[in-house]
Amino acid sequence: MSEKTSLRKADKIVAVKGMNDILPPDSVVWETLEERVRNLMRRFAFENVRTPIVEPTALFVRGLGEVTDIVEKEMYSFDDRLNGEALTLRPENTAGVVRAAVEHALLYNGPRRLYYMGPMFRHERPQRGRYRQFHQIGAEALGFGGPEVDAEVILMAHLLWQELGLRGVELQINSLGQPDERKSHRAALIEHFEAHRQSLDEEAKRRLHLNPLRLLDSKNPAMQPVIETAPRLIDFLGDASQAHLQAVKDILDAHQVAYTVNPRLVRGMDYYNLTVFEFVTHKLGSQGTVCAGGRYDYLIEQIGGKPAPAVGWALGVERVLELLKESQVSMTAPALDVFAVIPDIESLPQVMPHLQALRVAGLSVQMQASGPEGMPGMKAQFKRADASGARYALIFGADELKAGVVAVKSLRDPGISQESRTLTDIAHWVPGLMPHV
Ligand code: ATP
Ligand code: MG
Repeated sequence: MSEKTSLRKADKIVAVKGMNDILPPDSVVWETLEERVRNLMRRFAFENVRTPIVEPTALFVRGLGEVTDIVEKEMYSFDDRLNGEALTLRPENTAGVVRAAVEHALLYNGPRRLYYMGPMFRHERPQRGRYRQFHQIGAEALGFGGPEVDAEVILMAHLLWQELGLRGVELQINSLGQPDERKSHRAALIEHFEAHRQSLDEEAKRRLHLNPLRLLDSKNPAMQPVIETAPRLIDFLGDASQAHLQAVKDILDAHQVAYTVNPRLVRGMDYYNLTVFEFVTHKLGSQGTVCAGGRYDYLIEQIGGKPAPAVGWALGVERVLELLKESQVSMTAPALDVFAVIPDIESLPQVMPHLQALRVAGLSVQMQASGPEGMPGMKAQFKRADASGARYALIFGADELKAGVVAVKSLRDPGISQESRTLTDIAHWVPGLMPHV
């Protein structure tokens, strides 16, 4: 680079379209949600897993199905420049969790309840509630075939809405039956859509013989009438599939959890069978699904594992947080405990061990730092202390330090006058000033 170009002010580099920075104070809300979810997962005996963000492309092609929106148009796929491997930024994480479970024989000693949190990537048109990097929290119960676990994961999400104070989240459920039932339904579907070929868009025509179930998931408003009149999979269910759905419903009823059976609910991936469900709200415009999931009894086998049933869901973090905002639920960071006012730069080696001791004792402490001209003046430091929102200012003046004391000033209650306290037992009396300790 020539000197001239290096001196020119650089052009700004901005984030990739549809990918967001999550910054304070919003990040506090994210952290709070994550904490609540961790606590919830613990109570339902779900264990955390963290899988790579990049996976072999074949995992999603095989797992989600070739003729799906995600695989056909939404994946960030690329060839590794160094070894040519076909890779994809994960668009979802059920396939990844199943891959990891199979690879590490996690089901060897019996079924496992697992959960994850993290970013997912889909090349979609960015809009409210729809981003190219977004975040999901997901729960996967691997190795469980009984309807009670379908109900359990639904109840877990339901409890989360309750604990977050979210209102207006409706549960819709359906059954996609088993492969043989899907086969007879598929034939009926093709016949129906063939008879209404003129109402199909290009994508639907192309998918009709490849994956007719996908047509039911179309968001094209013009196709809704022909979708409405299509044969319903629920009418093709045999006794066992019906009994499974009924058992899930019975458990939900026993918990007084409201739901509607939506025979049009199909989900966007091919791996589902039997129970599928979505939690939907009207408060977020057309991006109304906050959490979605279902049973996927054949995915583990498809990814190379020993056949084992499974059920799970994923929630969209951005949509849940948007709904929290709509519901006027506020989550704020706990206040700062202490702001340390430090008049003399020379005293830093003497002051900082006291601040460290307070942090060891569990308090949050913000320290005044130096600028190019040393420590800012007292007036500026007090202004900053006030703006910090801290409960107390501790003033480490040179004279006080010499006398082995520090001045304490309440920033919340101007009626309380400043006083001197001893430094030797600072980690004992400062926590005593705080309401939360
Ligand atoms: P949609 O029908 O809205 O496209 P989907 O069926 O593709 O959703 P899933 O793959 O089931 O969504 O993902 C589960 C959840 O993740 C969704 O219910 C939603 O809350 C969230 N989600 C999916 N795609 C996005 C996205 N592009 N941006 C933000 N959140 C998303
Ligand atoms: Mg989608």
